[in-house]
This record gives sequence, structure tokens and C-alpha cells, in this order.
Amino acid sequence: MNKVEHIGIAVSDIGIAGNIYEKLLNTPVYKTELVEQEGVETAFLQTGPNKIELLQGTNDDSPIAKFIAKKGEGIHHIAFDVDDIKAEMARLKQEGFVLLSDEPKRGADNKLVCFVHPKSANGVLIELCQEIK
Ligand code: ZN
Repeated sequence: MNKVEHIGIAVSDIGIAGNIYEKLLNTPVYKTELVEQEGVETAFLQTGPNKIELLQGTNDDSPIAKFIAKKGEGIHHIAFDVDDIKAEMARLKQEGFVLLSDEPKRGADNKLVCFVHPKSANGVLIELCQEIK
């Protein structure tokens, strides 16, 4: 794992949250992206080397909407940048971590992603992401 790639925050209104984070970080949202198959709308901000991903569910059945219904808005996941997502997935599986998919999926921001179940990581949802070159 190379570094924290971004921190994902679940929000109920991405427009309102985008404005708040733009003020907080004093920098504009540089990208918004709909990831249709995951039922999520995303907005990204960057401050220094660090990225924040805001996530809003597109329907009540989306994982983000369910998360907010259960826990309210807040930090949803921590994403780590990896060079070879398949190798990291195999390594983590070997170590006994529970992965949420057997294959990497196409995520937002030109990434291949895979999530590690929070029960494997002390209650924190972990995302692996590899930049698609
Ligand atoms: Zn993410």
C-alpha cells in the first residue's frame, strides 16, 4: 500500500456538502462523477496531496443511502493507493481479510477498486484503489 489515496465521506446532499467542503478547504470541487452501477454520485476536492471524496446515494437502496440511514452522515471509508490491486487482494485474502468482491470493480476517478469488509478492519471500511493507466 503506497499511501492514503482519499477519505470518503457519506453525505445526504452532495451539492450542500460540496459547498461546505469548498469553504472548509478553501478550494473548489474539481470533479464530480456518477458511478451508476454502485448507485453513487461523487465529488472530489484536493488539498495539498490529500483528497476528499464526497458520496451521495442515488437511490434508497444504494450502500451510501443505507449507511446514512443507519449511522448518519460521516466518514464512510479510507482508501489506499496500490500499484497492483489484484496482488494486494490476494495478499489480504491470504491474511484472512474479507473482501467485498472477488474482482476489482471500476470506481470513480479513473480507479480500479475493491473494498475490505469493516469487520476485518476494526469497524473501518477500507478501499483499495489502483489508478487505471
Ligand atoms: Zn473512495
